[in-house]
Amino acid sequence: MRCGHTLRALDLIPLFSYVFLLGTCRYCGTRISMQYPLVELAAAMLSFGVFTAVQTPLMYAFWFFVWMVILFIVIYDIRHTVIPWSCSLLLIGLSLVSLFLSGMPSFAALLSGPLLALPLLALSFFSRGRWMGWGDGVFQLSLGWFLGLVPALSALALSVWTGAFVGVGLVLVSQLPWKYRSRGFTIQSELPFAPFLALGALLVYFFHVDLFSTYFLLW
Ligand SMILES: [Zn+2]
Repeated sequence: MRCGHTLRALDLIPLFSYVFLLGTCRYCGTRISMQYPLVELAAAMLSFGVFTAVQTPLMYAFWFFVWMVILFIVIYDIRHTVIPWSCSLLLIGLSLVSLFLSGMPSFAALLSGPLLALPLLALSFFSRGRWMGWGDGVFQLSLGWFLGLVPALSALALSVWTGAFVGVGLVLVSQLPWKYRSRGFTIQSELPFAPFLALGALLVYFFHVDLFSTYFLLW
């Protein structure tokens, strides 16, 4: 980022280059942000997760691409508190592909996207995008189609709980009289929600966390 030197292949080996260069630039010695190895590690873990979750190479390619787009959205949202439209539209396209991949989807499967996105979009609508960004609802639309109605409901509940937990935690931490606290986080601060939506989806997709299906079976 500082010297603008063109990196060679040896500088670009995921994780290993960072470790061997001890987190500094080979050419100017500037510290390299922890963000790079962390994202590389996350991508590697997602790759392994998808590998264990699917059966065919084609499915691996498809779902790995999906999770890379989700990873990009999460990092972009953390850094800029906005989700790029190109990414959410791409993800909606991919979720529709996954929906029709195994024949004609059921009515519930078709509904799951809009139904799950509706509460988030309503929050954006009534607050004019202040309580919830429009991008989150659009992101949730694709997650609903990817996961299906009941699993996506579990994922959304997990997102709301973890988001509230972390949000309240950040407010409490910022109240502590710490001298080295860099910036105050208040109840009005903007907390990116896409990471929590992705976390909920991750727990459901890879770990099959299921909060509601027994409840729905009782009906
Ligand atoms: Zn450099």
